[in-house]
Amino acid sequence: MNATITDSVPDAQGHFGPYGGRFVPETLMFPLQQLEEEYFRAQQDPEFQQELSYYLRHFVGRPSPLYLAARLTRELGGPRIYLKREDLLHTGAHKINNAMGQILLARRMGKTRIIAETGAGQHGVATATVAAMFGLQCVIYMGEVDCRRQELNVFRMKMLGAEVVSVTAGQKTLKEAVNEAMRDWVTNVRHTHYILGTAYGAHPYPVMVRNFQRIIGDEARRQILEQEERLPDLLVACVGGGSNAIGLFFPFLQDASVQMLGVEAGGEGIIPERHAARFQGGSLGVLQGTRSYILQDENGQIQLTHSVSAGLDYAAVGPEHAWLRDQGRVQYGYATDDQALAAFSKLARLEGIIPALESAHAIAAVMEQAPKMAKDQLIIVNLSGRGDKDVAQVAERMRL
Ligand SMILES: *Cc1c(COP(=O)(O)O)cnc(C)c1O
Repeated sequence: MNATITDSVPDAQGHFGPYGGRFVPETLMFPLQQLEEEYFRAQQDPEFQQELSYYLRHFVGRPSPLYLAARLTRELGGPRIYLKREDLLHTGAHKINNAMGQILLARRMGKTRIIAETGAGQHGVATATVAAMFGLQCVIYMGEVDCRRQELNVFRMKMLGAEVVSVTAGQKTLKEAVNEAMRDWVTNVRHTHYILGTAYGAHPYPVMVRNFQRIIGDEARRQILEQEERLPDLLVACVGGGSNAIGLFFPFLQDASVQMLGVEAGGEGIIPERHAARFQGGSLGVLQGTRSYILQDENGQIQLTHSVSAGLDYAAVGPEHAWLRDQGRVQYGYATDDQALAAFSKLARLEGIIPALESAHAIAAVMEQAPKMAKDQLIIVNLSGRGDKDVAQVAERMRL
């Protein structure tokens, strides 16, 4: 593939081709410029990078293992399947990679208060964790519906000393939580940093979050070369906003032999309002600071979304994914709720690993792809998080 894909995007204004950019109220333009400057300075600063590596290693638990799922491999009868074990990180998902990066940045900027939005609660927990660790005040916005379906994470955030604001507007899920967080940020921006949880939003968030998450792919690349002495044939990751997927994919983008598959939430099938697969029923639009693929009606009203997994239940996808799809560099598919639940059980019973429902979407795609591939091929699938947060919900659906 052509090197310009990763060298030229995003441009200085945060555009990934026709996607990305910065669509925010006037009052947020200056803070975003400041954040951009401070971030790129930090990125070049060896001291910042050293501090980040220190905490990623000693607090977060990196590097995460790249584990050969031998029984899943045998069961599917195709390529060797490796799991990138982000589920083993402190707090149980990849979200902490980005939360750690951003809180170190917030400290550099002299901010004393942290806010964040959360869907499944994993990003809220990661943020509350790093805020507690550095003694910063922390407020987490979470939709009322998500508070209910992810109650365990609400308790965790509260135990970590965060204030959890249950958002009752609209669909009462992630989109509304982001709106409230942005409203808070506009009002309190002088001393508050907004730790956005995915590769989404106004520039510089998509590129910054991607760069904090690319450690997943950097490690996976090193690990597979060590263990198999060659590159993988296929990378698979679930796509909510897109941070765990871009984190795995990015360091392999120049490797033409490596195929990539992003998996969106197919919910109950591709029927309006019953899924969250933006590349299936979506179109170009602007939502919450950026231009990308969005599930919207003919009047540009944001459609309702549905997924069994709160972390994938969002009407828009990160702008870099829209760009990579246009380039034909990454393929995007979807898994339905039922497929994700089947994959959830399969991984638990075959490998002794209970995955997050989000990650189970990626496993479902592997179950579909692997039988079509050769035995001497290699798949790496990102196990973005562990399923502890989901067991009550799954038990109810399985009538356990
Ligand atoms: C939040 C979350 C996701 C979805 O977010 P991305 O930014 O698309 O990675 C996926 N898996 C887990 C475990 C999550 O917590």
